[in-house]
Amino acid sequence: MRILVTWTMKIGPPEMTETVPRTPAPGSLALVQKFINSTEMPDGVDELRTAQLAGSWLRDTIGIDLTVSEKDREQLISTRELLRDLLEAHTGENVDPAVSVRLESLLGRAPLRPVLTAEGATLTVNCRGIDSFLGMISTAIVEATLLGTWNRLKVCRSEACRWAYFDHSKNGRSCWCSMRGCGARDKARTYRARQRAGAATTA
Ligand SMILES: [Zn+2]
Repeated sequence: MRILVTWTMKIGPPEMTETVPRTPAPGSLALVQKFINSTEMPDGVDELRTAQLAGSWLRDTIGIDLTVSEKDREQLISTRELLRDLLEAHTGENVDPAVSVRLESLLGRAPLRPVLTAEGATLTVNCRGIDSFLGMISTAIVEATLLGTWNRLKVCRSEACRWAYFDHSKNGRSCWCSMRGCGARDKARTYRARQRAGAATTA
């Protein structure tokens, strides 16, 4: 399934309004992607900006009905932003090991239970409240790791974007959410910087 979203670039000339495919991640990994993209960086609307809105987002987007306290909301935001930081590793960035440690601590609040059949085992969430959502995030990451899709969930390398996207490219080496948008803009910026550097050395 492909979702076409039209949006206006926040940086660059106004003519850079374009239609770009923002293809969702497969299976339960889409849950992680939706969570990270519950805010538009750097200054877009944050769907988790109040506890009440976070509850509405969980109900309408994820399909779980929870009462969210302000403390819960703060945990959601911390988890979301640590996941965003962690995914930078998937485009080759160096990520501080403390990011994983902090994420483990947050996600580790949710106990998981193995469900065993003759076909094999799955992990299910064995708790209530906001922790049940954190458990869903953990199981989605474990599942994606086993399926080999986890390292294709990436965060756009553009500092002004940092949108979580699924890399559907053949070689799995894309670094921007869209080569027609952020990637092209990055190349133009690099080109201009080189031109300026060249002008400075010949002046
Ligand atoms: Zn981007």
